[in-house]
Order: sequence, then structure tokens, then C-alpha cells
Amino acid sequence: MNITTVGIIGAGTMGNGIAQACAVSGINVVMIDISDAAVAKGIATVSGSLDRLLKKEKITVADKDTALARIKGSTSYDDLKAAQLVIEAATENYDLKVKILKQIDAVVAPDVIVATNTSSISITKLAAVTTRADRFIGMHFFNPVPMMALVEIIRGLQTSDATHAAVHAMATALGKTPITVKNAPGFVVNRILVPMINEAFFVLAEGLATPEDIDAGMKLGCNQPIGPLALADMIGLDVCLAVMDVYLSEYGDSKYRPCPLLKEMVAAGRLGRKTGQGVYKY
Ligand code: NAD
Repeated sequence: MNITTVGIIGAGTMGNGIAQACAVSGINVVMIDISDAAVAKGIATVSGSLDRLLKKEKITVADKDTALARIKGSTSYDDLKAAQLVIEAATENYDLKVKILKQIDAVVAPDVIVATNTSSISITKLAAVTTRADRFIGMHFFNPVPMMALVEIIRGLQTSDATHAAVHAMATALGKTPITVKNAPGFVVNRILVPMINEAFFVLAEGLATPEDIDAGMKLGCNQPIGPLALADMIGLDVCLAVMDVYLSEYGDSKYRPCPLLKEMVAAGRLGRKTGQGVYKY
């Protein structure tokens, strides 16, 4: 399938990042959000991001203008008719995503592939609410999209080989490195990353080392760019706890029990950078 136009639902953090990645790779974009203000904010974010690349002389003024011209903002799902692939990147809420997928289904042609950027909702379950379960797939980009090379491609139980092949090729055309994953909570990266962060809280709670030494250990001993506790502060301790709770309930395995210290800190409102205090003070 020749994908020349991608529809993106949501102009937020991930939606505008995906729009930028597509536009700089020569693909036309229709980016949809619920208000003109949200669409304008998304396009302004892309413009600002391109300006930073311009300053670093990684692109020219003409490159920036050409990329921006490829992005059409809209609040109408009818504009998705131009797309061969639609990527849903709206707010992480199951009921909202079901509503959006039904809206997409109603306007795009039967052969159009629909992907979701969800971090936590089952691809198989979302596929089942569409009329195109075999042409539905997970495309999990990482934040910030223009900088991060990875895309996890998640196959639901119903996803066809042709859909997988088309989306895999598309991710490669965007300059990304795709990895293929079967649908399961956390996919691959977060399945490994968040329990590692949880284990760092157990190590801290047991008084085995200071936060600084735990983070230095993982940075210098495992070549991680940031220690697990500092990373938890960036992600949000509440988000880490919610993810562990999902793994515990979905897998039913006690190895996913959240560390009591993580729960305590969330209860105290120490959620990380966003509240000014998590493991560290900001
Ligand atoms: P965000 O809050 O920054 O943006 C979501 C956007 O969706 C908002 O602009 C909102 O107005 C819009 N929206 C809500 N309802 C809509 C509708 N009916 N139609 C069109 N647009 C609608 O959220 P985000 O961080 O960009 O996350 C989007 C998705 O990406 C979520 O599923 C999230 O789990 C996933 N994700 C996020 C990250 C991350 O680090 N932020 C990483 C990977 C995946």
C-alpha cells in the first residue's frame, strides 16, 4: 500500500510529534483535534520544534516551510477521507478511544489501516470494536517523537500480515526503527522498564543505598542515560504506580506488586517533577 497521507487524531504531545515525523519525511498529514485552539497549539508546537532544528542547522528554512505546509489541521473527521492510514493519538481513555474509532470507521474507506498509539489499552480489545479488526494495529511511538527512534508495532490477535507489513514499512519510511510485539499489557519496553523502576523503590525502601547511589549505579553500571529513580520523577510516580497496578491485575502475578514506598509517596502527593518533589526535590 502506498501511504501518501496520514490522518492523526489528537494534536497533543504525541499527535503533533507524529505529525512532524510524517511531514519531514514527505508525507501529508491531516491532524484532527476537538477545537481550533487545540489544532493551532499542535501546529505551533511543530513549528517551534522545527525552529530548534533550524537553529542547529539540521534543516533549512525551505525544509521547515515545506514540512509545515504538509500539515493540515482540522476539527472535522470528514477530512480523514484523504488518508490511507489513520493514527489515533488522543487522550488515554478507553471509552473515548472507542467513540473515536467508530467515528473514523464511519468516514474512511474499507481498505484504510487504523492504528492506535495507546500505551496501555489492549490492541485486540480496541480492534474488536472496529469494522476492520484485521486492518487495525498498535503503533506505539516514544516521547519526544521527532527524537526517539523506536516504534513498537503491536499486533492484535486479529491483525493481518499485510497490515503489519504496511505499518512496519511506514515506520521505517519515517526513519524509525520498528520492533514487532504481540499484544500484552505494557508491550515490551514498558513491561521491562516500569518493574525495573519499581524494583529501584524496593532497593531504596530496604535502605540498601541512597537514591543518588542507586541512580549512579544504574547509570554507570548499565549505561542508562538516567537513573531509575530520577526517571520515575520524570514519568510521574502516580503513572508508575498505575502501570504496576494494571500489570498486577492483568497478569495476576505477585511479581508485579507495587512497592509500598512508591504507594506512600503517591499518597503524600510526591509525584515527581510535576509536583516539585518525588524521590528528589525540584
Ligand atoms: P495529550 O493530552 O498531550 O493529547 C491528547 C489530545 O487528544 C488532546 O489535544 C485532546 O484535545 C485530543 N482529543 C481528545 N478527544 C479527542 C477527540 N474526540 N478527537 C480528537 N482529538 C481529541 O496526550 P498524549 O500524551 O499526546 O497521549 C496521546 C496518546 O499517546 C495516549 O493514548 C497515550 O497513552 C499515548 N502515549 C503517550 C506518550 C507520552 O509520553 N505522552 C508516549 C506514548 C504513547
